[in-house]
Amino acid sequence: MTASATASRETLGFQTEVKQLLQLMIHSLYSNREIFLRELVSNASDACDKLRFEALHNDSLYENASELNIRVSYDKAARTLTIADSGIGMSRDEVIANLGTIAKSGTRDFFSKLSGDQQKDAHLIGQFGVGFYSAFIVADKVSVLTRRAGEKSDQGVYWESDGGGEFSIEMVERAARGTEITLHLREDQDDLLAGHKLREIIRKYSNHIMQPILMQKEEWKDGKQELLNEDETVNQASALWTRSKNDITEEQYQEFYKHVGHDFDDPLAWTHARVEGRQDYTQLLYIPGRAPFDLYDRNTRHGIKLYVRRVFIMDDAEQLMPQYMRFVRGVVDSSDLPLNVSREILQESKDIEAIRKGCTGKVLGLLFDLAENDKEKYAKFWGEFGKVLKEGIGEDFANKDKIAALLRFASTLADTTDETVSLKDYIARMKDGQEKIYYVTADSFNAAKNSPHLEVFRKKGIEVLLLSDRVDEWLVSNMFEFEGKSLVSVAKGGLDLGKLEDAAEKQEQEKQADELKGLTDKIKTSLAERVKEVRVTHRLTDSPACLVADEHDMSGNLARLMKAAGQKSPNSQPILEINPKHPVVLRLQNEDARFDDWAAVLFDQALLAEGGHLDDPAGFVKRINQLMLDMGK
Ligand code: ADP
Repeated sequence: MTASATASRETLGFQTEVKQLLQLMIHSLYSNREIFLRELVSNASDACDKLRFEALHNDSLYENASELNIRVSYDKAARTLTIADSGIGMSRDEVIANLGTIAKSGTRDFFSKLSGDQQKDAHLIGQFGVGFYSAFIVADKVSVLTRRAGEKSDQGVYWESDGGGEFSIEMVERAARGTEITLHLREDQDDLLAGHKLREIIRKYSNHIMQPILMQKEEWKDGKQELLNEDETVNQASALWTRSKNDITEEQYQEFYKHVGHDFDDPLAWTHARVEGRQDYTQLLYIPGRAPFDLYDRNTRHGIKLYVRRVFIMDDAEQLMPQYMRFVRGVVDSSDLPLNVSREILQESKDIEAIRKGCTGKVLGLLFDLAENDKEKYAKFWGEFGKVLKEGIGEDFANKDKIAALLRFASTLADTTDETVSLKDYIARMKDGQEKIYYVTADSFNAAKNSPHLEVFRKKGIEVLLLSDRVDEWLVSNMFEFEGKSLVSVAKGGLDLGKLEDAAEKQEQEKQADELKGLTDKIKTSLAERVKEVRVTHRLTDSPACLVADEHDMSGNLARLMKAAGQKSPNSQPILEINPKHPVVLRLQNEDARFDDWAAVLFDQALLAEGGHLDDPAGFVKRINQLMLDMGK
């Protein structure tokens, strides 16, 4: 490809992250080098989709040539490979933005995770997505010639770079709209300069692309290869989702996912169906194998692509999936929606609501199927996306019970967070006489696991769920029961173990409360405003004291989370519960001179044990030292 040099030529530097990405890509993806073609063809296909969509409102963008295709060619003598499309093309500004920077959310996060270990980084880079820059895996120079559809022929743009720190850009004449990317192959890439090799790669990775991928026909004559003056379509060139399931192989589903999901790795699972009813549509929805970097970024792109009768309408049609399923990727192709449907219309459309309902149900069904029949895959799903699915409990009232059945929790019966239990299994293994589902919340797994509130449950062998994700507090504030069993925090309200305690135990507790009434009153007076109440506990076996929240107050953990997030939380005081059998508590009965110090230490250590922060750490240390000295006397 030639580009006449004009005075407009400019050299610009890549964004720092692009430089890093290029370096990394060339080194860590080398063994996967063929994927560059998939990435470039995928972009070309997106560009055709975009033109078709824009032309719905403005037919002139076709410039009297409405054919959309992708052409792959090679030049043995020049040692170049060219991928051209008749898609939307790019303006000068778009070229600079798209081929000079990375506009992805999560970019900084991604780069901070790189280790320098090529194998590990290769894995991460796949997760990040490679795209256009993957051309540099096989090329030491890449040039792009493009013109945006509808622009005049002198608005062509020529971009060129050797993948170092810079690229050049200039305005050129270009008659055809669309984009042509030429790769000047590296020394050892000559095997790519062969029609059969390129056809093989295209069929392997890009068969599912909707637009025809054209190559010049070749023939072997007398042991010599001849190029004919005729094109042939190399791929299947039909929308994959419109084909019958039986005609699609696993590999084709997987490759298609990489295109729609902009992912490098295989998906975990998918569901493909034609739905007829209030709305007729086809959906092909995938659960990725791994969470993307921007899972928690509200501005993430690349969700569901919406098509109407095979015409691409938009990327990331967020109305088609609830927020808590934002990890789902794929395609919905509606037979009924009008072609001029816009985001604004989608927001209010009852038809879209019906589609969203249907898609949500399909994904839940798929998850149920995995949870039942492929526990290993489900565990993988849970590890990657469990926290997001939990949001559904508060978000999707209609499916709350179904989502609840899909939840998994760490518990006191397991040693690690990897071993999880469903609420159904929890109920199935409840102790005789147990009527409630018990849980504890804390800001880490270890804090939850070692919470003093669990002592009596351990002693009695009652399982308690350990909740340590941020979203868990929100979860339990939206879920009060499961299959008729209420969910109860072990650190809230008066502990009523119901039938798990016998009459003798209850009597004993009342007796102790009476006996220690003087002490609890005295501690309350000493701690004054810091506590709502002081009472005798039967939660503890080993610790001298713990804090609990009143029945309708916010848990200490939630109050701390809110504070950390800069939010105001209601100023509710905790209840201090003391262990009537603990030697420290017994000793306190006979303390006079330093009673206030003892009471303060008791409170502070209870706060520390549940992961709280002391108001006056230095005061705590001073008191502890004083008490230690006293003991030595
Ligand atoms: P991604 O495709 O994940 O956005 P890429 O680095 O592959 O990332 O591409 C960046 C952007 O460059 C694309 O989003 C698109 O806007 C633009 N682009 C790339 N290739 C083409 C093309 N063939 N035609 C038009 N635009 C393109």
